[in-house]
Amino acid sequence: MKKHDQDFMKRQNRLTVFEIIKNQPPISRASIAKQTGMSATTISRIVGELTEQGYILESEQVSAGLGRKSTLLGLIDASVLSIGIELDRHKISVGVVDLQGKAVCSEVHGHFPDERFETTMMRIGKIVGDLLRKGGIDPARVVGIGVGLPGIVNNETGIVVFSVQMGWKNVRLAELLKDLTGFEVAVDNELKVKALAEHLKGSAIGSNRTALIGFGNGVGSSLIIDGEIYRGDMNSAGEIGHTTIDPNGMLCECGKAGCLQTYVNISSLLLEASKIRQVHTIEELFEAKKAGERWAVHLVDRALMYMSITVNNIVCMYNPDSVILSGELVDKFPDIYEEVKELCSTTLVWEPLRESYRFLRSELNEQGVLIGSGLLAQTRFFTLE
Ligand SMILES: [Zn+2]
Repeated sequence: MKKHDQDFMKRQNRLTVFEIIKNQPPISRASIAKQTGMSATTISRIVGELTEQGYILESEQVSAGLGRKSTLLGLIDASVLSIGIELDRHKISVGVVDLQGKAVCSEVHGHFPDERFETTMMRIGKIVGDLLRKGGIDPARVVGIGVGLPGIVNNETGIVVFSVQMGWKNVRLAELLKDLTGFEVAVDNELKVKALAEHLKGSAIGSNRTALIGFGNGVGSSLIIDGEIYRGDMNSAGEIGHTTIDPNGMLCECGKAGCLQTYVNISSLLLEASKIRQVHTIEELFEAKKAGERWAVHLVDRALMYMSITVNNIVCMYNPDSVILSGELVDKFPDIYEEVKELCSTTLVWEPLRESYRFLRSELNEQGVLIGSGLLAQTRFFTLE
């Protein structure tokens, strides 16, 4: 075996052992060996290294039959921390995430859509520094920064290829933020890290094929298959907002006609509503619907139908075991979740598949992207270390 293949194997083994201790504490060395098929010597070496680096807590000895004792292993949650960041058109959320995916502390700051990229990065650098200081957190324990944002992101280079919401094109986010903070930076699409967070720590624990659909300022989806984010060739798998629903439909900001998002995203709904009367927020539109104003009822009902059609298309295409509805529209209006669920289970999902998946709502809600980004930074650290 070549030297770098050996190194790769060693890192993979180390990560596997680490993940098992993280997910099944307290656990004995023998059970880890049994689950992984690695030799007792390999397990002992890896556990030794991890203990030396301050990650592992050995707990009480218990009887393992016939008077034999075995030591159980667990992780020290605060031994690895990362910074999770969610970027959105209007806000920047920054938090410190521990090994269990808990946000130890977090803050939300405003973002101005026309702020220069460099200015935003400098502000984030300062927010991170201040947060660590205020939280009394030792920067040496922070293994990296993860950033989740809407748009097409090259997750390997950390370059944001294209983000309409942020107004960025080909910006070297990871590089600049690393220069400003000194931390390694991982960048990814927001829905991909959100699905990862729900899969690891939220509503889809135990699912092997998770589909997450986000309805908000944009429309998108992401897929976790056997624990891995499905990325496609350009890390843009799941950009369903621009799937064509009606070639004769409304014009989309992308230049095509009849894209899915023109029927369901917040700005399209407001634009359509304004043909009847000036509506400034999505809340006003839903109030008009509640009051029974015909145009509003029509607009919202049509959006609900297209959301359900989206679920059907995803279910037919990927046959997931879980579908999570998320995003600003679903978070703000719990009725949307119930109504889409009802439409899917009664009519709009193809009948043979109606019972094939769990219909879930996001459990981590507005912290999902922040937590997922933090977990991404941790995974990156353990894979590369
Ligand atoms: Zn489009």
